[in-house]
Order: sequence, then C-alpha cells, then structure tokens
Amino acid sequence: MRKKIIAGNWKMNILPSETAALVKAIAEATKDYGNVDVVCCTPAIDIPAAVAACAGTAVQPGAENAHWEPSGAYTGEISTGMLADAGVKYCIIGHSERRQYFAETDETVNKRATAVIKAGLTAIVCVGETLAERDAGKVEEVIVRQMKEGLKGLSAVDAEKLVIAYEPVWAIGTGRTATPEQAQEVHALIRKVLGEMIGIDAAETVRIQYGGSMKPANAAELLAQKDIDGGLIGGAALKADSFAAIIAAAAK
Ligand code: PEP
Repeated sequence: MRKKIIAGNWKMNILPSETAALVKAIAEATKDYGNVDVVCCTPAIDIPAAVAACAGTAVQPGAENAHWEPSGAYTGEISTGMLADAGVKYCIIGHSERRQYFAETDETVNKRATAVIKAGLTAIVCVGETLAERDAGKVEEVIVRQMKEGLKGLSAVDAEKLVIAYEPVWAIGTGRTATPEQAQEVHALIRKVLGEMIGIDAAETVRIQYGGSMKPANAAELLAQKDIDGGLIGGAALKADSFAAIIAAAAK
C-alpha cells in the first residue's frame, strides 16, 4: 500500500508574513488524517516561517526548486544543502512553469532531481504534456522522454526519495482537469517506464501524484484510480479549507 501524498505548490503566492497562519490552519484542519502525507511547498523566502510553523505538526515543509551545485557563483539560486539545512523535506523539480518560462530542460531536471535526492530530500519530479502534444497524439512519447531523460541514472534506492507528479500542462491553473481515466492511463504508463528503469518492485513503491486543477469536487474520483497516489495542488492549496478537503478525500 502506497501512502497517499498531497502537496501544495504555493508558487509565487503567499507572503512570508502570511505563511505561519496558512500552515497552522492546514495543520489544524488535517490533524485527523495521519494516513496521508501533507506537504506545503513554498517560495524560498517563506521557508523559515513554514519550517517553524510545521514543527510539532504533521505538515511537512517543501521547496519549489533547487540548484544542482552544492555552492558557488550562481546568483539567485538555492542549493539542496541550504534547503536541507533550513529543514526542508521535499522539493518540486521540473514544474511545467519552470520548463515553460525558465528554460528548464530534461537535462537540468535530471541534475536538479539527482542533487535533491543525494541531499536526502524527496524530489517531486513533474512530467506532463502540453495540449498541442496531446492533440498530436504524442502523450506517450513526451512522458517516456521526460521520464527517461529527467530520471536518468536514478537507482531503486534513490527511488525511496522520489515522487512523480503527472501534470498535464493544459490542466494547470485552467480549471480543466484530466478525466480519471485519462490520468490513470498516463499514471500506469509512468509506472511501467519506471519499472523498466529501476525494476518493477521499486516502481510499485513510488508514489505518483496527479496535478492540474485538482479540487475538492474532483479529488475523490481521481484519487480512487489505481495508480493515482496523491495530488500536487496549486490554486486549491492556497486556502486551508479547500486543501484540507482534498486531503480528507485522500484519507478515505
Ligand atoms: C500546479 O501548479 O502544480 C497545479 C497543479 O496547479 P493548479 O492546481 O492550480 O492547476
């Protein structure tokens, strides 16, 4: 049995001064759902407040990106060692907004994910096709490439620190959600490719989240699918009540 994992991706929302209140409200609203891992991935500047607010609760702090080098002249970047030192447990890598607006490639995703895992954090590695790619019948080709290139060199042991998020780009922040069947089909593909890369037994233990306009109204039917082990949540993670309602659906 894979433990469900619901992670919020706050993106460039929520001020440092607002962070503690949101984390505490989430912790309070979800305290009865110990069978679900709850994560808040925050902007870097919110991390100290998030880590402090998570202390003594079941909510775990996460980051939204990390550089692959341990230190050096990389103005504006943050290393995995810095995140670990600050108390972060999870880090999103390769979100489609990073790929689309910040020139992230499968190669840089691979470097970042490898560094995150080596630092002892859990990487939440995002994959997903654009609408044009889906319409062109290229879903499988895109997902297989993102998996094989983005996770190149990872072993079955590394997979203990790996979560994959399937996020169809056309469903992120658009209000359009993949149907449970569409999502399950890609999740099964992801698990099959993972099996080829690290072995079927290890692939069976890796949690695969769905992301893309998941909300209280559609969470239960998505989370009921065999290979959907959680959610990566944008908009609905910015309010404790909607985030908690998704976690309640995962806890059932
Ligand atoms: C995301 O940013 O990862 C995401 C899934 O956003 P939203 O839930 O707003 O579609």
